[in-house]
Amino acid sequence: MPIVRVALDVPLSTLFDYTVEASVAVGQRVIVPFGRRQMAGVVMECLAKTDVAPERIKPVKQVLHDSLPLSAELLDLLRFCSDYYRYPIGQTVLSALPVRLRSDKPIVGKPVLSYRLSAGGAALDLEKFPKRKVVQRRILAKLAEQPCNLAQLKSLSATAGKQLKTLEAEGWVEHYTSTPSPTLPMQRGGGFVQHTFDNAHTLTCEQQQAVDAVSAAQGYACFLLHGITGSGKTEVYVHLMHEVLQRGGQVLLLVPEINLTPQLENYFYSRFPDVSLTSLHSGLSENERLHNWQQAQAGVARIVLGTRLAVFAELPNLALIIVDEEHDSSFKQQDGLRYSARDVAIFRANQRGVPIVLGSATPSLESYHNAQSGRYRMLRLTGRALAEARLPAVRCININQTVMHHGISENLLREIGQRIARREQSLLFINRRGYAPVLMCGGCGWLSGCKNCAGKMVLHLNDKRLRCHHCGYQLHVPHACPSCGDTDLHPVGSGTQRVESVLQERFPEARILRVDRDSTRNKRAWQAMRERIHANEVDILVGTQMLAKGHDFPALTLVGVLNPDGALYSSDFRAAEKLFAQLAQVAGRAGRSDKPGEVLIQTAFPDHPLFRALRAHDFEGWAAAQLAERRMACFPPFVYQAMLRAEGKNETEVYAFLHKAHAAALGLERDVEVFGVVPAALPRRANHIRAQLLVQGARRKVLQTFVRDWQPLLDALPAQKLRWSLDVDPAEF
Ligand code: ADP
Ligand code: ZN
Ligand code: ZN
Repeated sequence: MPIVRVALDVPLSTLFDYTVEASVAVGQRVIVPFGRRQMAGVVMECLAKTDVAPERIKPVKQVLHDSLPLSAELLDLLRFCSDYYRYPIGQTVLSALPVRLRSDKPIVGKPVLSYRLSAGGAALDLEKFPKRKVVQRRILAKLAEQPCNLAQLKSLSATAGKQLKTLEAEGWVEHYTSTPSPTLPMQRGGGFVQHTFDNAHTLTCEQQQAVDAVSAAQGYACFLLHGITGSGKTEVYVHLMHEVLQRGGQVLLLVPEINLTPQLENYFYSRFPDVSLTSLHSGLSENERLHNWQQAQAGVARIVLGTRLAVFAELPNLALIIVDEEHDSSFKQQDGLRYSARDVAIFRANQRGVPIVLGSATPSLESYHNAQSGRYRMLRLTGRALAEARLPAVRCININQTVMHHGISENLLREIGQRIARREQSLLFINRRGYAPVLMCGGCGWLSGCKNCAGKMVLHLNDKRLRCHHCGYQLHVPHACPSCGDTDLHPVGSGTQRVESVLQERFPEARILRVDRDSTRNKRAWQAMRERIHANEVDILVGTQMLAKGHDFPALTLVGVLNPDGALYSSDFRAAEKLFAQLAQVAGRAGRSDKPGEVLIQTAFPDHPLFRALRAHDFEGWAAAQLAERRMACFPPFVYQAMLRAEGKNETEVYAFLHKAHAAALGLERDVEVFGVVPAALPRRANHIRAQLLVQGARRKVLQTFVRDWQPLLDALPAQKLRWSLDVDPAEF
């Protein structure tokens, strides 16, 4: 009987053999017995015979025909990821799939709510339909082509649900339930495809050169599009997409932030009104995720927009990959399969033989180095696309030489006052939420430490609590010091809430909006806030990094950066690189339209090279200096690293494990550098002791072979009461 080798979601680095009666294709989903359970798996290979003893091999329980088989290409990609990131093959394959495809429940048979035009709706003349009801028009036009489910309509606009209710009430649209067909027929690309393209702008010379260079690429090529903020990188993407869509290809566009996808979705719709687009990110429901994934798999969705997980979408006609804000650390997954979506995307482009464009105003030093050494091709956009939009003036305020009001300097407050008078917006950027990072006793110096972690409890004044941002533990704010009983307790340092209250006191009339994870917990909250900002109903914005990314606020002319100094002397060698990127990005928020912008940075080190480079808008100089330092110190991109992390309740066990791992690494006698066992940056979290061990090699290959041989030794070490993980190309220390 034929044998299939199946990937299952279990933490073992093997595949499992089963016999099968029916004919099965590689990539198909099957249900198999495993121990006393049954599980869904993916067929990775079909064989004629196996080494497993006949009495031990069980038959496949069911072959599922409820979805298209995964392509050999995707399975290859996942095999590569499993091997490179040292993560079990079964878990790699299954974790790349939408949840519904991981379950052992067949996905057919679930009725879906669908919508179609009523007789009245079909009789409507869309030409005469009010132009300003954009979403309603779009829905009616779509339904005129074919009935759709809610997920499909939602991809037209975030407000589709609400508009549908209106359309139903008007009697133009009706709903019904239907059982979807299990698989969409695969649509093959190729040939010339006509579509509407709103060619809004004439490209600048630099934009045109970038578009031409990528278009001319034959097969795989990796481009780094280094364009300052406001230089019109999106416009380059749009023109490249247009070209690929015309040839019948699919485009994969990866973005760092889930919050950015609805905005971008709408934008691409406005440019390609009749091209089918779909999104993939963790904010979708399980059914939506499955639906969108299948749209991509069937080749129906021509543009696939998503966060890092979208890099594993099935794309039969993939012809171009774009990674926007390629430097962003959210492309790296920090648990499970610890992959970098940017790096996987590059592998994928190579595997497919298609071009990939990495875009950023502040490229990662890895990519920048690769572009300089000729492995990637550098494309530069050096000017802002809109002639009247100039780069903001950046200045530093020395906090040791000025009057400070709870963390905000008098100079900055004065500038904010002027903006309010001119009805312009200001943004204060501080990377700490809550009221103050710690509560302190004036009597004995007690600090509000967390009982479970090595960190401090953050003061949240609105609900009068101390809260640990690492483990979530919280307490009511004590009335007296738990250590000496003194009642002289005061907050030290500033968070977003305190900045907000200082500003409210100084500018009682001003409309202040705080944007951080606390104020945007509700899904719709951020959308509503953005609308208020755009309608100029806000004078001062106070926010964390959430506000730094990609948003365009035309009335914003002043950006104040409150306390960036911590990152200058951090133990993480990437902290300065990240700070530069973050500040350049927030600075880019200021003065994007006709009004010039200004950026004020409060610091104790105004002469630090990082601030000097920011003032001069000199990414190149900064990057060159950083790379020289990295080369001297043997840090990436000049070496390749892998980090072994362990954590557990018992300190002795954690360290014993890592010391044995250390000895095993040395025993292999390879050309890699094995560092000592050290505590993690946060040495205790949620009552777990955390420590780590770093290994690095001068070449990727060397490190890979080492890690491949080291892992089985680690697997063999006793580690009952601890958790450990290997992180290849770690991004955090
Ligand atoms: P980036 O993503 O590089 O920060 P954007 O793509 O957001 O920049 O472009 C900044 C602004 O410039 C946008 O308002 C965009 O519409 C406009 N723009 C882009 N390219 C052109 C062009 N060729 N001509 C006129 N305006 C342009
Ligand atoms: Zn005290
Ligand atoms: Zn804690």
